[in-house]
Amino acid sequence: MAIRLIRKEGDEILKKKAKPVKEISDSIKEVLDDMLETLRALDAVGIAAPQIGTLKRIVVVDFDDEIYELINPEIVEEEGNQNCNEACLSVPGRCGDVQRPFKIIVNYTDREGDEHSLVAEDFLASALCHEIDHLDGVLFLDKAKNIQVINEEQLRQRKRERKKRRAAKLLQKRGVYRK
Ligand SMILES: [Zn+2]
Repeated sequence: MAIRLIRKEGDEILKKKAKPVKEISDSIKEVLDDMLETLRALDAVGIAAPQIGTLKRIVVVDFDDEIYELINPEIVEEEGNQNCNEACLSVPGRCGDVQRPFKIIVNYTDREGDEHSLVAEDFLASALCHEIDHLDGVLFLDKAKNIQVINEEQLRQRKRERKKRRAAKLLQKRGVYRK
């Protein structure tokens, strides 16, 4: 496993359409491992393969202590909408508001080659939409309104909020509720 360099806005690869994975070879598994390691090293929510310079249809999302590895993800249903304030590893220092569906159903293949259908709502839905957009060469900046500069402190604040939400979810899972 290796931490990979993140391609930044302005890099042509981020505008290209990624190719479907035809066979889950060892090198594809290595890409998955590298994506997860890079994601964790940067303490981020999601990453798409083009962001590490690999033009394949793969996304990895780490949400509430669950890892979602999606190969050839395809959104087959969308419902409702939500306004999300998004940031991106490839667009350091900026955030913006993007309209996303509230609920999606995504078909995908896992690293064993098995096909699944995932129902995602709320934050997870928006994170998956953001990453899947990367596979079509779309950045959140292309869709965002109200693009703002985000500073280090705000970035830390976002991470703290994420941790808090994660901790609350964990307690909930264990049957502990806090008011
Ligand atoms: Zn992104």
